[in-house]
Formats: sequence, C-alpha cells, structure tokens
Amino acid sequence: MEPACIRKLDEVVINRIAAGEVIQRPSNALKELIENSIDAKSTNIAITIKSGGLKYLQIQDNGTGIRREDLEIVCERFTTSKLQTFEDLNTIATYGFRGEALSSISHVAHLTILTKTCNDKCAYRAQYIDGKLKEAPKPCAGNQGTQITVEDLFYNISTRRNALKNANDEYQKIFQVVSKYAIHNANIGFSLKKFGEKTELRTPIKSNHIDNIRIIHGNSIAKELIEIKFSDTKYEFDFHALITNANYSTKKPVFLLFINHRLVDSPLLRKVIDRVYTAYLPKGTHPFLYFSLEINPKICDVNVHPTKHEVHFLHEEQIIDRIKEEIEKKLLGSNVSRTMYIQTKLPGVQDVLQDAGDAETSTGDKAKRDDKNLVRTDANQQKLEKFFGESQSKLTTNPAKKRKFPITQHINKSDKVVVRLLSVLELRKSIETQCNANLRDLFAQHKFVGCINPTQALIQFSTKLFLCNTKKLSEELFYQFLLYDFQNFDQIVLENPLPIYDLVIMALELTNIEYNPEEDGTKEEIANTVQTILTEKAEMLRTYFAVDINPEGYLKAIPLLLHNYLPDLTNLPVYVLKMATEVNYEDEKECFDTFSRQTAQFYSTISQTDEILSTGENFNWAWVVEHIVYPALKKYIIPNESIIINGAILQVANLPDLYKVFERC
Ligand code: ADP
Ligand code: MG
Repeated sequence: MEPACIRKLDEVVINRIAAGEVIQRPSNALKELIENSIDAKSTNIAITIKSGGLKYLQIQDNGTGIRREDLEIVCERFTTSKLQTFEDLNTIATYGFRGEALSSISHVAHLTILTKTCNDKCAYRAQYIDGKLKEAPKPCAGNQGTQITVEDLFYNISTRRNALKNANDEYQKIFQVVSKYAIHNANIGFSLKKFGEKTELRTPIKSNHIDNIRIIHGNSIAKELIEIKFSDTKYEFDFHALITNANYSTKKPVFLLFINHRLVDSPLLRKVIDRVYTAYLPKGTHPFLYFSLEINPKICDVNVHPTKHEVHFLHEEQIIDRIKEEIEKKLLGSNVSRTMYIQTKLPGVQDVLQDAGDAETSTGDKAKRDDKNLVRTDANQQKLEKFFGESQSKLTTNPAKKRKFPITQHINKSDKVVVRLLSVLELRKSIETQCNANLRDLFAQHKFVGCINPTQALIQFSTKLFLCNTKKLSEELFYQFLLYDFQNFDQIVLENPLPIYDLVIMALELTNIEYNPEEDGTKEEIANTVQTILTEKAEMLRTYFAVDINPEGYLKAIPLLLHNYLPDLTNLPVYVLKMATEVNYEDEKECFDTFSRQTAQFYSTISQTDEILSTGENFNWAWVVEHIVYPALKKYIIPNESIIINGAILQVANLPDLYKVFERC
C-alpha cells in the first residue's frame, strides 16, 4: 500500500486545534478575559452569562481600552502588548504574555469587542472571525474600557459542543472562577449574573480578602479564618494565606491557590496541607484554604501549559515544606489562644438541676459568651455528680432534668510574655537535657493506630507497634506545657465560681484520700486552711498559671493547656486540695515544679463526657485523644527515659528489646 502524502495543515485548522487547547470550556475563556481586564488596570468587572456561557458570555471592564489602530491585529495569534523578548518572561508581571487568548476565542466562537480608550472621543465596535476582523471597526457610543462578547462557543467544533451540554455545570465553573478572582483581587469590584436575572455575586470595589470571603462563602467560614503571612529569604518567596481553624470543616474542599497572582492548582501542595488538617478535622472533611504565593518570577515557569493552569517553580518541595511548617505552627497556636468557659455548679450552692437553658439566662459573664460556639455535653456521663450524694440519684433517674455543661470558647489573642525566671528556665533545661533522641523520633514520626480505652492507645513507629499509656504520656506533656507556656496560658473559665472550702470538703469525703483527723484537724479545719493558703497565693497563681481565685475563696478559672481538651472535672476537688497540700510554696523552683506536677496529674485524666460541637460534630474523648492529644504529643513532647521505666510506652511484640532500642544515646 502506498504511504499517504504529507501536507501542511491549513493555518485556520492549526489555529483551531491550538485554540481548543487554550479554551477548553466557557470558564477557561472567561478566566482569560478576566485576566485581560485586570492587566488593563480595571477596577470594575461585570460579567453576564447565558446558558452557562455556551451561548453568550460578556465581560465589561473599565480599564485602559484598546487603541483603534490595534483592533486590526488584536485577535491575531501571538499579538500582545505585554511581552516583547523571551527574557521578558523572567519579569512578567501581567497575566497575559502570549497573545493567544483573543485569537483562540475568535477561532472557536463569534467574538465582538467594544472598546474606548481615554484618548478616543468615541468607542469602536469590532467583530472577529478566525482571528480576523469581519469588517472595519465601527464608531459608536460607549464608556471607557472594554466589553468583550463571546457568542456560540464551539459553534465550529461539534464534538466539544456536544460534550458540554450541561449549562448548569458550566455556570458553576464560571461562578467558581469569578469568586476566586474576586477574593484574590479584593480591590477590584466584581459582579456576575445570568442574562435577564438578578446579580448572583457582587463584591465591592476596594474591599478586602476576608470581607469578600464572607460575601461569597458566608460568615461560618469568615469568622473562623486564621491569617498567615511570612517571607522566606532563602527560597525568595512571600506567602499569604487565610485558612479556617479546627472549628470549621466541610465535606467539599475549597482550595484557592494563586501563584504570582495566577489561579493555578498544585495537587502536591493540596495533598500536603490536607494531611496537616487530618489531625484537626473529622474524617472525610476539609478546610477552606486561600493561598497567595509570590515567588521570584525568575524561578517560576508559567509557560508549561496552554491554559497556564499549571506553573512550575524551583525548590517546589522545600517551599511546600516551609508552608506546611508555618500552617502547622499556626494551627496549633490557634489552639492555645482560646478561652473555654465551663459551667460548673455545686449542689447546695446553686441549683444543680437547673437546665442549661435556664442557666444561660442566670449566669454572669454573659458578655463573653458566644452562643454560636456553644458546646453541649451529655448529662448522663458527667461524673462530678458522684460528689453530690442525694442529688446524684435524682440526676440519673430523671432524664427530663439533665444536667448540661455548656462550654463556650472565644478567641483571645494576646502577646506572649517572655519568661525570665531562672527557676523556670532551669526546669525547662532539665527537661531538655534528659530528652532521649530516639524516643523523640518515635513520637515525631509515629502513626496513630487507635484508642483501646481513655487511658490506652496503640501507635506505630516504623514496623513496630507500641502500647501507650495516654494518661501517663499526657501527664508528662502537660507538665512540659506548664513550664513552656508559663505565664502565657489562656483559661478555662468556670462560669459559676466554685467555693474552695466546699471543694475541699468534697475531696476529703472520698475514701481514697488519706488524712488523719488527730494530726490534720477536722475536715472543716483543713478546708479553711486550704482556702487561706490558696487565697494568699492567688496572685502568684494567677500571674504564672492562670489559676484564678478570688479574695472570697472561689475558684474562677484554671489554665487551658490544650485547645479542645477538657480534663475530667470530677477530679477538681482533689486537685484543689493538692494545690495546697502537695505544693511546696517555700522554694520558688520547687513550687513551680510541684505545682506543675500536680496540675499535670489533674489534666491527664480526660473528660469522658460526650460533647456536640457547634459544627455538629460528635466530639468525644476518643476523638480528642486521636485528634488533639496524640498530634500534640507528636509535635511537642520532649520524652525522657522515665516514660519507658514507668510503662508509659511498651513495644507490644517484644518488651525486652525496647530497653536495647532506646538505650541512652
Ligand atoms: P495577552 O493577554 O497574552 O497579551 P490576549 O490575546 O489575551 O493576549 O490579548 C491580546 C492583547 O489585547 C493584549 O495584549 C492587550 O493589549 C489587548 N487586550 C485584551 N483584552 C483587553 C482589555 N480587556 N482591555 C485592554 N486591552 C485588552
Ligand atoms: Mg490575555
């Protein structure tokens, strides 16, 4: 058989093929047109759509306009006002640079330009087909700026037209593109509407990112945003981001990524950040992320894909790593910068059986409460009742009068105090010198396997499985938090202050508390002494540990050591007793050490009360252990060998080996 002869393709065919690559669907075309309007320094961009942009897509801007004499060639391939030499690509500051968009559109649709510059007396209307003017531009009335109308997209590519039948889907894609550009370019006013209908999206001119996020995505996202801003001199980039904190999660991920102001995608970055969030968000849910990355154009290749949807840059992995690191830091930081309010009541002092609804109206401190963030706790599992004698049975037998513990949180941003106390610095130092590097690696790299119960969990490190005593590990972690966050704690505020005297009496009524009435005095005497000691030390406790005790001897707040973590309040009476009896107030260093130990012990028993978060997530101890406690251990614990000796961690398969593996190094 004879070979087919090779012929050069007709130029229109070449251009149409190329156009099909640049313009894949209406939203691509619109993206190019929006970028042209931004390049032309517009401050207002209005978009009108018919049939998902397949029939009609119009964009009106108030930018520089196009000169009359340029209208001849503006739609030819490779005509641009933006790039002249190849080297210009190194410093490119505009979106466009290839002069391909208008040409491409004119090869696959009917394109009309209506434009007026500041020097022209009137506007001109020009219609194009396959890159060429249909006829000479006609003078007409018009405002300064450019209006581009694209009609019957893919009229000459039937396969593409048939593939894009769903106008709704196309409109959704257009909506996404416009909202992303509107958020990023907050100084520009955007509007989007379907032809003949109400405007569906409008952002004001000179707005800001957060306000535009609120307009487009709602306040549930806007109020949970954390801002991250940093510059990196080593890899020469600036990063700015607005990301939701752990309070917000959604099934549909929202990821806005702009690199050098171009809307792009980076599957790698997306994956890395999603993994960071798995520590904070319920399974299968995602955060809202807006990232703007500005890198030196010299190390960024924007010209890798016809749609410019992908960009390549040097040091991609290192840059992504730096971003990940900052986000991790901020997310954990946002955890400690909160205050929780807990409603706690004592029988006889206040009415325990009061319903949460009543309680809200009767408690003080209301100004600080934000009901939207209300966390409810399940009454049945609350163990503080066991101190309450009579009322306990009433509680469990009368479900209609459930006891509720609403907890509210609010963000409390404050600057960090630098600790200069030698005693604290020495205690920190001794934690650090005892650190076992192998154990540190184990925690830093472990994978959480699962909870066995509130005090035990399994983790994996390389090929080995370890049984961890969560209580003992978190006790060590909290001890370290107490010394490292010293003077910088946020608080868990008890909405109803609790009298220390009553708490001590309760503690002494427990059978496992040893005291000798001959030596120690009566319960009442002990309670009085404890109250006196703690009110005397109140100022010190408040300044250094955020423990709030008022002059009348009421406990008002305890430190918040880890966000979303709640200790079992059943142990509060014993903790308060030990605050006086087990802490050595004579010596400064001893005092901080023993106080931290006692406090860590109290916090290490996790509350087993089920809670429903404001986001509707079920928030129980197992969730907290997996998503709060172990990630914090991973990030923060400075482990020493005592955790092996006291059995806080055991290799499940082979116990003796553990000592060999973690020999002092
Ligand atoms: P590029 O943006 O790569 O230069 P385009 O085909 O998108 O190529 O646009 C070609 C040229 O048309 C641009 O360089 C610019 O001079 C002009 N132009 C396009 N859209 C507008 C607009 N909205 N306002 C002013 N000039 C425009
Ligand atoms: Mg362009």
